[in-house]
Amino acid sequence: MKTFYSPAHLLHAPKEEFEAGRLSPAVEVPERAERVRAEIERRKVGPILPPRRFGDDPILRVHGARFVSFLRAAYDDWRTRYPDDTADAIPSAWPARGMRLNASDIESRLGSYGSDTATPITRGTFEAAQAAVDVALSAAEAIHGGEGAAFALTRPPGHHASGDLFGGYCYFNNVAVAAQWLADRGLRPAILDVDYHHGNGTQAIFYARADVLFVSIHADPAFAFPHFLGFGDERGEGEGEGLNLNLPLPRFTAWDRYAEALQTALRRVREFSPDVLLVSLGLDTFEADPISHFRLGREDYFRLGEAIAGLCKPTLFAFEGGYNLEALSEITVNVLEGFAGH
Ligand SMILES: [Zn+2]
Repeated sequence: MKTFYSPAHLLHAPKEEFEAGRLSPAVEVPERAERVRAEIERRKVGPILPPRRFGDDPILRVHGARFVSFLRAAYDDWRTRYPDDTADAIPSAWPARGMRLNASDIESRLGSYGSDTATPITRGTFEAAQAAVDVALSAAEAIHGGEGAAFALTRPPGHHASGDLFGGYCYFNNVAVAAQWLADRGLRPAILDVDYHHGNGTQAIFYARADVLFVSIHADPAFAFPHFLGFGDERGEGEGEGLNLNLPLPRFTAWDRYAEALQTALRRVREFSPDVLLVSLGLDTFEADPISHFRLGREDYFRLGEAIAGLCKPTLFAFEGGYNLEALSEITVNVLEGFAGH
């Protein structure tokens, strides 16, 4: 299996995030992707290739032009506002109920386009996010060219970013841009999101669409991030009615219960009969993930890969969450090997 990877992700190295009432060291760090890359080499998964540049056009098929402009300029705008400081840009006020959307200064733009305090914009964030999209698109191009599978080692991740919102460590929605690029070439994509957290951004982007199926297995938002989306009754709207399937699971879900939800998800994908499958591959379902509460073990990730391979579809894996640095690379490659060995 080919892996696509860009060292540009190293430019995005957030220092801190504000969560649970405190400022804490960032968990979405460059070492995540570097460790996975090393493990792919060590276990000889296949060649690691650089992406090609696709420019803004494929991004603008999914994200609003104003949002893209905001993100491109956000760090410089922030530095202009706070020239004597070195802190990364993090929103601290939002246009909540009764207030007006306003994009007059960088503080209001951050609050208008950002959904949480865990997703800092650093000097290199835009370049890294753009490269992550190129990584996903290069994998999509490989699949379009006839590859049976490809791994996009995307960092920063993407599935929490919607058309005009960044959040949940995500800026551009890598998997959504890739799915749209494939749809624009006449293919029918299904997206399976197996990250611990609901892929609210991906859901929002395709919620009213008849041509893209979105299925997500995740921690119930009744207790987990993103808190405001990902419930079981969100089934799509308009032409997209019935083409959004959320399978929220309780805290401490282990493989047995997870496998049942996975079978339900795969059944729905089969019914839709896609030309291509995109997997939002989050590894934060691991039992020792520092920010999550599922109980999947190391061996379970082989089973996950095997089960996905059972669909017999061209498959693009896009890297999302997963924060246990010691196990992350091993379990990521377990999924890829489980898939390839099927
Ligand atoms: Zn996650």
